Amino acid sequence: MDFELTDDRAALRDEAREFARTEIAPRASELDRNREYPAEILGELGERRLTGLTIPEAYGGRGEGTVELALVTEELSAAMMPVASAMGLHLGVAEAIERFGTEAQREAYLPEMARFETVGALGLSETNAGSDKRSMETEARKAGDEWVLDGHKRWVTNYFDADVVLTYAKTGGDPRTTSPPSSSRPTPSRSNTSGTPSVPTASSRRKCRSRASACPTRRASATSAKATSTAATSRRA
Ligand SMILES: Cc1cc2nc3c(=O)[nH]c(=O)nc-3n(C[C@H](O)[C@H](O)[C@H](O)COP(=O)(O)OP(=O)(O)OC[C@H]3O[C@@H](n4cnc5c(N)ncnc54)[C@H](O)[C@@H]3O)c2cc1C
Repeated sequence: MDFELTDDRAALRDEAREFARTEIAPRASELDRNREYPAEILGELGERRLTGLTIPEAYGGRGEGTVELALVTEELSAAMMPVASAMGLHLGVAEAIERFGTEAQREAYLPEMARFETVGALGLSETNAGSDKRSMETEARKAGDEWVLDGHKRWVTNYFDADVVLTYAKTGGDPRTTSPPSSSRPTPSRSNTSGTPSVPTASSRRKCRSRASACPTRRASATSAKATSTAATSRRA
């Protein structure tokens, strides 16, 4: 990888730095104090297609790479980390759709994601699967034309505003997941027999340590989703 700070990269860094100085920094303290998701700021980043920074230009993004993403992330984080984290997670979902999705999914999701009109979230971590993602317990099984997801997720940045949640699940079973849950584990906040996503309550939002990152600490039950492709994306209702 070429790490050189070219003129184009310096210009991009300066663009992000100026945006952070004028648009984020003056609002950061109040948003954090109020534990408020920086939706307006992210919308403005969307107008500049910075929320499509690494999405290919063919899908409406800016077509930049990892070094450019690091430069922008550094500038946004310096003003307000939750803005950078919301953008980074969103772009991670976009990259998965680009790499593993179908062409129809790329065309359906990526242009809107570049503008942050469709918001992506990543459902990977679980109560017992933080650093060690192999301990993940959520399972996916095929039922006719649909995939049924069974499990829970937590720490899902952008969850409350997400349109697309990229959910990780195991298929084929795993001996490590067959032991009964320990009694100390919390139960899902709402039952999920209807196939409707279970949404954590507003009070769980207030417990978030990174206070404005909209990352619920309580578990969110996985829901059933139509099988559309290898990229297990599901549009939130
Ligand atoms: C603000 C925020 C946003 C997040 N957003 C998302 C999201 O959008 N989607 C998502 O899926 N997850 C998200 N996460 C979850 C994040 O991925 C996990 O918090 C992270 O993986 C760590 O897991 P844990 O908190 O359970 O800590 P643990 O895995 O329990 O680790 C605790 C400590 O032990 C250390 N440790 C762990 N294993 C080892 C080891 N083998 N050797 C040495 N040290 C070790 C860790 O470094 C850490 O210091 C978010 C977390 C935060 C704080």
